[in-house]
Amino acid sequence: MAKKSLRGAINAHCKGCVYDSNAPGTWLAQVSLCPVTECPLYEVRPTTESIPDSVYEYYGEEIPQKSIVRSKKALEGRFSEESRPKEARQGDTA
Ligand code: SF4
Repeated sequence: MAKKSLRGAINAHCKGCVYDSNAPGTWLAQVSLCPVTECPLYEVRPTTESIPDSVYEYYGEEIPQKSIVRSKKALEGRFSEESRPKEARQGDTA
């Protein structure tokens, strides 16, 4: 049997502890929003910053402020000049 990594073991434990496949959010999002701060694994639980606002709202959590870069991209739209590959932009000469 292959030896499990410590990270893998913690991830699996947290997923088994809190993940509800019938609730909104991926297992990683749900573990990120784990409210049990007194748990010995809390500080080392796997987390993600990629959590939809609807998931924060479902769990009654405050939606974190978006980074300036993320907000700027949202305002400019998905296919703004800055989001295009550099090579594609270099071919544009009007
Ligand atoms: S940090 Fe503790 S309480 Fe939270 S999901 Fe992991 S094991 Fe469960």
